[in-house]
Amino acid sequence: MLKLKKIITRTFFVFLILIPIAAFAHFIIFPQETRSILIGYSGFKKDDRIYFNAATPLSKIDSLRSLIEQASIRVGDFWGQKTCNPGFIYCDNEIDLKKYSINPSAPAVTYTKLGAVIVLGADGMDLDIIAHEISHAEFYQRIGFYAFMFKIPSWFKHGLAMQNDDRDYYSEDTLKVRSYNYKSMPNVKNLKKDEKFYAGSREQVMLNYMTAKHVVKNWWTKEKLDKLVKELNAGRSFEEAFGQ
Ligand SMILES: [Zn+2]
Repeated sequence: MLKLKKIITRTFFVFLILIPIAAFAHFIIFPQETRSILIGYSGFKKDDRIYFNAATPLSKIDSLRSLIEQASIRVGDFWGQKTCNPGFIYCDNEIDLKKYSINPSAPAVTYTKLGAVIVLGADGMDLDIIAHEISHAEFYQRIGFYAFMFKIPSWFKHGLAMQNDDRDYYSEDTLKVRSYNYKSMPNVKNLKKDEKFYAGSREQVMLNYMTAKHVVKNWWTKEKLDKLVKELNAGRSFEEAFGQ
């Protein structure tokens, strides 16, 4: 019994030392994501689930809250019900955006370690962009961190989020023109990793987004999506779950 107590005490102290080391290593590798996870300890103000720099005009936060509500309804309609409850970090200036976003040239990013956190820049104050990010958070909520990060190919992840994103420059009509009537579309199913999905010119990446949207749209039914989630949660690979 005494031995067991000793083991427990030792394990406890090892963890006590390991946790700060792991947190520090995470900060070195992913500084923006670590800051976002620890946003509750920053100087940012908090209004419900939204964090923002105290210098941000409150009218902007009011608009943001309203956009989040509308976007949440859209995502809820698509999924049948919204089950996620992500946090939001609104960065009204470049300095804050660089501090919290791993990709400050994008209007928004979503982190999924220890719960979903959506970082929005001033350009992310947009219903479609917010709905896109909440849709990522919803998929993550339903299948968990491991599957979301390691099982889902990039093309499907973004194609699915695009179903809630109605920006016209990613629309079916735009794709039709850009792909010469669907004759010249990228083979998005080869874009399994984000590095590949985002490789190439801005035009190419936009074409990847609209093609992924098109492919998922042609596949999607509510039943197929529910079944995919169920299969993933039963431990199947994406290929198995998607192919069935
Ligand atoms: Zn996306």
